[in-house]
Amino acid sequence: MSCMGAYHSLQSVQIAGPNREGEPKIRYIPYARQWIDEDDIKAVIAVLRSDWLTTGPMVEKFEQAFADYVGTKYAVAVSSGTAALHAAMFAIGIGPEDEVIVPSMTFVATANGVVFRGGSPIFADVDPDTLLIDPQQVEEKITSRTRAIIAVDYAGQPCDYDVLRSITKKHDLVLIADACHALGAQYKNKNVGMLADLTVFSFHPVKHITTGEGGMITTDDPDLAERMRRFRNHGIDADHARRAEQGTWRYEMTALGYNYRITDFQSALGLSQVAKLPSFLHRRWEIAGMYDQAFASAKGINPLYTSPDVVNSYHLYVIRVKERDRLFAQLRRKGIGVNVHYFPVHLQPYYRKTFGTSEGLCPNTEKVYKQILSLPIFPQMNDNDIERVVTAVEEVLN
Ligand SMILES: *Cc1c(COP(=O)(O)O)cnc(C)c1O
Repeated sequence: MSCMGAYHSLQSVQIAGPNREGEPKIRYIPYARQWIDEDDIKAVIAVLRSDWLTTGPMVEKFEQAFADYVGTKYAVAVSSGTAALHAAMFAIGIGPEDEVIVPSMTFVATANGVVFRGGSPIFADVDPDTLLIDPQQVEEKITSRTRAIIAVDYAGQPCDYDVLRSITKKHDLVLIADACHALGAQYKNKNVGMLADLTVFSFHPVKHITTGEGGMITTDDPDLAERMRRFRNHGIDADHARRAEQGTWRYEMTALGYNYRITDFQSALGLSQVAKLPSFLHRRWEIAGMYDQAFASAKGINPLYTSPDVVNSYHLYVIRVKERDRLFAQLRRKGIGVNVHYFPVHLQPYYRKTFGTSEGLCPNTEKVYKQILSLPIFPQMNDNDIERVVTAVEEVLN
């Protein structure tokens, strides 16, 4: 099941299966969904009526609000989570000689960001109970070419950052967090976003808050922040607004960058959404709690383990089951938008072909991939929706 397929069904499929004439229509419950209110819409419209559609004041406001929420000095907004990963790899200077250790249990974009810079992603295995990168596996994969580790806070649970930090210190590596699942999560009372040298977020509609498409990188390092601001703007050292202020037409392109800018109307949406993050998180915890309770005594359903050291922000609620493929098909037929996150990246045709990866490289990832199923979880789910999912899972299991 490709991720794009999931996105597609989320956007377009409202009704499950064929509904015969006269039968009530079954509402399709997607695995994830944005929550947009009238005030979000008003915020976007106000920008559409203003002078600045892009590179204007809303971008900085959104960045500031995001940095304040997370607790870092800087936040750099870009056009997607993928662009954010690319910018992070640029900022730390990843190039063709370099290796970056990544988990294989992630969305392809995590590894692609390394490849965009000509570097090699080195796949490390995960802990089968959390699906988080296994620090011991990381250490075993370090070579003289290793430059960085990208930790993925899978499903919304932060990785073990104390242990990962001790590894990066010992080997002089950069620690990057792909926290596209984990906005609002905490590790030992510290917010995700301040735990790594650079932390990457996504604002795709399935994530905690949305800007349609969008991404952010948080950091306390002013040089890295400046490099990423340049990178999102063609590698040009000053933006349009600043040139206008200084009354000069001249600009300098000092590196090869991209147009990865976010628009002002997207930033207005982001700003409006950040304010709602606490209530969104609260509802995600309620839903996860209801699933936990429902499945605590159920035989054959194994939710992932969450460490007592963390606050899980539950982008996904993942269970491990036998006969996953049968469950997937039957639940989809019942209008439950279950999904699979993820097909191991090292087994994707591109990675096999380009990097020669194959079965056996990450045994835990390969084994657990066959068992995992993501159940619907999003703040606008009501208690009846949750009941429907729980009942459907129990029915197809028995
Ligand atoms: C969503 C996601 C991305 C990519 O974000 P986009 O905004 O869709 O480009 C990267 N990594 C992970 C783990 C994700 O879940």
